[in-house]
Amino acid sequence: MSQPEIIAATNFIRNMIVQQREAGQQQKVITRFPPEPNGFLHIGHAKSICLNFGIAQEFGGDCHLRFDDTNPEKESQEFIDAIKEDVNWLGFEWTGDVRFASDYFEQLYDWAVNLINTGKAYVCELSAEQMREYRGTLTEAGTNSPFRERSVEENLAEFSKMRAGDYPDGAKVLRAKIDMASPNINLRDPILYRIRHQEHHQTGSKWCIYPSYDFTHGQSDAIEGITHSICTLEFEDHRPLYEWFLDNLPVPCKPVQTEFARLNLNYTVTSKRKLKLLVDEGVVNGWDDPRMPTISGMRRRGYTPKSLRDFCDMIGVNRAGGVVDLGMLYFALRSDLEHSAKRAMVVLNPIKVVITNWEEGREELLTSPSHPAREEFGQRTLPFTKELYIDSDDFMEEPPKKFFRLAPGQEVRLRNAWVIRCDEVIKDAAGKILELRCSYDPETLGKNPEGRKVKGVVHWVSATHGIPAEVRLYENLFQVESPDSDKDVDFLDHLNPDSLTVVEAICEPSLASAQAEDRFQFERVGYFSADRYDHQPGTKLVFNRTVGLKDSWAKIQQKKG
Ligand code: ATP
Ligand code: MG
Repeated sequence: MSQPEIIAATNFIRNMIVQQREAGQQQKVITRFPPEPNGFLHIGHAKSICLNFGIAQEFGGDCHLRFDDTNPEKESQEFIDAIKEDVNWLGFEWTGDVRFASDYFEQLYDWAVNLINTGKAYVCELSAEQMREYRGTLTEAGTNSPFRERSVEENLAEFSKMRAGDYPDGAKVLRAKIDMASPNINLRDPILYRIRHQEHHQTGSKWCIYPSYDFTHGQSDAIEGITHSICTLEFEDHRPLYEWFLDNLPVPCKPVQTEFARLNLNYTVTSKRKLKLLVDEGVVNGWDDPRMPTISGMRRRGYTPKSLRDFCDMIGVNRAGGVVDLGMLYFALRSDLEHSAKRAMVVLNPIKVVITNWEEGREELLTSPSHPAREEFGQRTLPFTKELYIDSDDFMEEPPKKFFRLAPGQEVRLRNAWVIRCDEVIKDAAGKILELRCSYDPETLGKNPEGRKVKGVVHWVSATHGIPAEVRLYENLFQVESPDSDKDVDFLDHLNPDSLTVVEAICEPSLASAQAEDRFQFERVGYFSADRYDHQPGTKLVFNRTVGLKDSWAKIQQKKG
């Protein structure tokens, strides 16, 4: 069986670098991925990771992992650890040690002093509310702060007192002196430092003033010798400020910022704030719940790193944005799992079948390849016994026409085994089906029955040797395509109440040795992965449904194409 084709879409940043090289600008490419450790990474971050690390790989350069940690009250070591693990799991290694913007706090402080000395920064005492009023609007210029013309000496003294802890939170800020009338609001004397008496996960209690994102990011890039500072489009308006700092400070080099469109996926929210809310409100069981679009949630769900990288190739990189269909992600996932997942038979909703013409106590060990196309995966043994389970969905007492599965008087093939016919339905007093009495045709193992056609094939498990498993059936977390686009409706109102259903299933015995995170195709059902934490080989089997088998997205694309 051939693997479906994953076609890489265009990537304008990659093309830009190719052109720079052709023009003889032969510098080594150095990129960075700069997460803020205030939550887990999500599928949108995967796009940024694949882009930054992918470019470094392709052009023989470096990619740094730098935590943008200027907001200590929202950040934590837990998030740092999870982010590092996710980047590695996706298949990427950063160059050198993990870096922190906080490593550069002393240098940033010196540069702030440098701006004060050159008359380009001042300590301002306007309240937050006054500051908003003075800032102006998109159509109206701002007003200069009354503190704007302080002397260099006074500013140096004040800033030094801010650092020494002489003032409470919010009392004063350090601002750049740029232009209160600039049409770009980011240039209207932006804040460089705030007072925050707050422990920091890296620097402890050393600092009680923290630099703003804007004052930190570009200079950190410059310190690290970043050549291509790639970020999402919401930072486009910040670029003039990014460049202003580099032009007005004695930085060792001048990185160039390039923006691309964020990834948006339908049926999914990728705002960290909203994901945090889902966790804090207990809507899901933590950041790595298999329903979360976080990298660790997707990992737990059964996604492969390759499927996420392939997906990022398929969506490409551009500045136009738009919403990507979740079906495309599932397509990348199925394409990889089709090739890499072993096959197994598992009955999710068991109904008992008794083979009446099978001798009491007789057992046959049938075998089947673990993968139809990959011999190296070996064979599995499927014990066949008098009592079996099939899925209750594969039986109908009063079937419609074209129901090719099991029904009274009707024949069906048991996958990898014989053809059986249902002769009798046994029920309890309340009419509930207890078992199906069937007979098998001994002449049908590996060959078609004589003189008649049997169209349907169903999967089965020996009732004697099958092993129970908890199977968690996941559906989309949201019921609507764009859960957070409606201003009047809370995104939580769009939650799918059936996003998780737990069933007791019966598995073929080979699954007893499945290890945590092993992935399988449960034949005729879908792709499943042994839970990373709760699955115990041999003792307690727990599988998560990764994705169903049906691929509507690929079919729609074929029709369109
Ligand atoms: P916030 O800053 O609000 O906490 P964020 O999603 O921007 O959230 P960061 O940790 O700052 O999170 O992001 C790290 C990097 O990932 C940034 O360069 C950011 O541009 C990029 N990124 C974040 N979300 C997406 C997305 N949906 N698509 C592509 N890149 C993204
Ligand atoms: Mg951000």
